[in-house]
Amino acid sequence: MASVKVAVRVRPFNQRELDMGAKAVIRMDGKKTRIVNLSKTAGDVGFKDFTFDHSYWSFEPSDPDFATQEQVFEELGTEVVASAFEGYNACLFAYGQTGSGKTFTMTGPPDDPGLIPRICEAMFGKMQEEQEDKNYRVDVSYLEIYNEKVRDLLASSNPSGGLRVREHPRQGPYVSDLSHHLVTCYDHVAQLMERGNRARCTAATNMNDTSSRSHAIFTLTFRQAGLGAEGLPCETTSKVHLVDLAGSERADATGATGQRLKEGAHINKSLVTLGSVISALAEKRVGSFVPYRDAVLTWLLKDSLGGNSKTIMVAAISPADCNYSETLSTLRYANRAKNIVNQPTVNEDPNVRLIRELREEIYKLRGLLGEETQPKVLAELQQKEAKEKSLTAEWAEKWRETQAILREQQALGLRKAGRGVVLDSDRPHLVAIDQDDRLSTGVTLYHLNRNGDTVIGAAEGSDIVLPGLEPHHCIVTLKDGIAVLTPKNGYCSVDGLATETSSRISQGSLIGLGRAHVLRYNDPAEAAQLRKEGRVMSRSSLFGGSTSDLNLNVEERELETERRRLAREYEERKRQLDEERRRLEERQREAEEQLRLREEKLEEQRRRIENKKEEELEKVVEEQSQLRILQDETERRRALLKDLMDQMDEEQSAETLEAIQQVIILQREELQELEKRVVERLATLQERQKRVAELDAQLEAAREEVETARLALKERTEAELQAMHKRRASLSLALNGRGRLGPPSSDDSFHTATDQPQTLWPPDSALSDSGLGLASPGEALARKVAQQKEKILTALEDENCDKEALNDHIAHLQELQREQIRLETKMNGNFKGGPARRPLEAEVDEPPITVRANAFRRHSAFELSSP
Ligand code: ADP
Ligand code: MG
Repeated sequence: MASVKVAVRVRPFNQRELDMGAKAVIRMDGKKTRIVNLSKTAGDVGFKDFTFDHSYWSFEPSDPDFATQEQVFEELGTEVVASAFEGYNACLFAYGQTGSGKTFTMTGPPDDPGLIPRICEAMFGKMQEEQEDKNYRVDVSYLEIYNEKVRDLLASSNPSGGLRVREHPRQGPYVSDLSHHLVTCYDHVAQLMERGNRARCTAATNMNDTSSRSHAIFTLTFRQAGLGAEGLPCETTSKVHLVDLAGSERADATGATGQRLKEGAHINKSLVTLGSVISALAEKRVGSFVPYRDAVLTWLLKDSLGGNSKTIMVAAISPADCNYSETLSTLRYANRAKNIVNQPTVNEDPNVRLIRELREEIYKLRGLLGEETQPKVLAELQQKEAKEKSLTAEWAEKWRETQAILREQQALGLRKAGRGVVLDSDRPHLVAIDQDDRLSTGVTLYHLNRNGDTVIGAAEGSDIVLPGLEPHHCIVTLKDGIAVLTPKNGYCSVDGLATETSSRISQGSLIGLGRAHVLRYNDPAEAAQLRKEGRVMSRSSLFGGSTSDLNLNVEERELETERRRLAREYEERKRQLDEERRRLEERQREAEEQLRLREEKLEEQRRRIENKKEEELEKVVEEQSQLRILQDETERRRALLKDLMDQMDEEQSAETLEAIQQVIILQREELQELEKRVVERLATLQERQKRVAELDAQLEAAREEVETARLALKERTEAELQAMHKRRASLSLALNGRGRLGPPSSDDSFHTATDQPQTLWPPDSALSDSGLGLASPGEALARKVAQQKEKILTALEDENCDKEALNDHIAHLQELQREQIRLETKMNGNFKGGPARRPLEAEVDEPPITVRANAFRRHSAFELSSP
């Protein structure tokens, strides 16, 4: 049986109270707290006294009685720690209006930590001291209750409706799906606490200061196991709840806030229920109903209030007269809580308890046995001894297993962080970052030899064997907490800079070995120190800690840091540019491939058009010969007609004349018929030639299309290349402009601004296909053909056209076209692979110009050569 311990703590005036010239209404004397009512007229009893387990005077730091965080911890916190180590559950909760100092007392600022961090630190300190034959397992959870919803402050996400509270038949109420985080050192706890507090703050800013209206419960589950005196097993599990309650002002149903409640302001159900539970428990009525289940807070803290727990309440109060009624109600609340009686029990493992009880009985029986042997007692004793033995063996086995697992976990420092698994080690180590091996899935951690050399290389027997390195690649020497990398036979870099001399490496340094290996150096002690110093180190400033000369002075070191930073920046930008160039090349290849396909298609089309054209031309020739035959026939008839007419003059015989006339009429008709056919033939011919012209136009269009596509591609590529070139040049310029740093010398093709910009890829000339001077005789021929066609068309339009002349024109056109066909056929012979553009041969007796087209190769280059 143990009463809830109650402490009251008064804080200093806050700025608002100072500004309004507040007067102090709290006095403290030993365990006594007095609240003075300044509004009472003189003569009335203007104060009320309360006695608590502790009254902490934290009003004025200069006061000799001032209660520091340290003192509060010494008197309350150590008790919590002791309870946990004894195997009891413990609970410490802070109550009071918003701004009264609950969070200050529970968490405190970083430079003056409160109870939670101090309790955790003390627990880990004690575990270290008592480690000997015991094993400990601690896990942490942190939750918040807001509007009766439970939110996990250590989880990456929470269900919108909050987590559900359930009840285990033996272990009591619990939050299902709440994350529990195994912790192996105080640092882990600190990190989790910070994370949880951050999560609380984020929510607070989003939701109009929920932190004053939410309850935060930080829980440590502490399990210890070991062998006690005479090999007696002991195993206990304690739960330690550290609770920062919501501001009490909105929930207290007594006078001062009654008005607010009536107004329907936020009612914090959990706090109201906490009041009811405390009242019910304080009245100590046997069998009276305690409404634990009415609210989430009281349900979860059921054990802490009137149950199996050693519980402490800290009531935080303001000293100012303006808060008189709130403070009075807090003091009354605290006063009531004093009356709660709990029944803390050691939470012993049931098997361990059985073993202990058996041992006690065995002792008793042994005492009974005395000198003489009593068979009945002896039998019972033997039976109990056997049972005890087997139970102990069973437990010891289980314990050894647990111990091994815990040891392993502790050695590796494997812990869960949200979804992640964090691998910690307190010794300096290297972590392998596999860059090249895409199939590697494990994470490798190499511990460095303490105070000495760690040899890294490919040779068997090296401390760290890495394939692909030189046999004795390098050495990392650890001495007095300082690590130095010394290259031996292999390429080494620190934070991206090649090094040939001994270089100091510090927390976070990236070490490159050979081509493929990158290792990160971690020094947990250094990291902890940096954290403690509150230095928020960026990666780059951590990098700055590595120097190739251990004796550099501060200024040089700063320069060195800057130099490394710039070098890294340079490397990064260079990498980006290379990446871009690769992408550009890729795009270029794709565009070329597309162009090639298009060209092939057009070439196919061109061939089809040409075949058609040839057919048409054949038909034209055919038409022409037909036309000529017709024309000849017409001539003959004309001559015949003329003869007949002449005859008509000579021979006067009427009979003959008539006959001749008949023939003349016939001949005339036939002649007309013939002439009509000539006209028709001519029309057909015209039609056919028009068709040929159309085909020619189509051919030209196809050629132009390919040419335009190629030109566009070329221009685009050139523009992109130029842009990239400029950026490269400016990158080098920028770096050279910034002090003494030049880009690290390397044998790659990267050039600096001082170099003449030169495009290595693709060569500048590569895309140029101009300057071939193809204003060739072929083009002149084509022009002539067009002119000739024009002439024929004009002649045909002319009604008085001389048919003779028309024939000549047509014959000439045919000649020209035949010549053209000859030339093209010859050119096609030279164009293996067929380009769209077809240069033409000039005169047969001139040496032929050979044009080889590499159109589909990478650079779309044409080569001009003459044998
Ligand atoms: P609560 O959590 O009860 O709302 P806080 O703990 O946030 O109140 O305290 C309100 C303000 O008063 C904070 O600025 C805090 O630093 C200050 N404060 C509270 N208690 C003390 C104390 N004992 N000593 C100094 N400052 C305190
Ligand atoms: Mg607070």
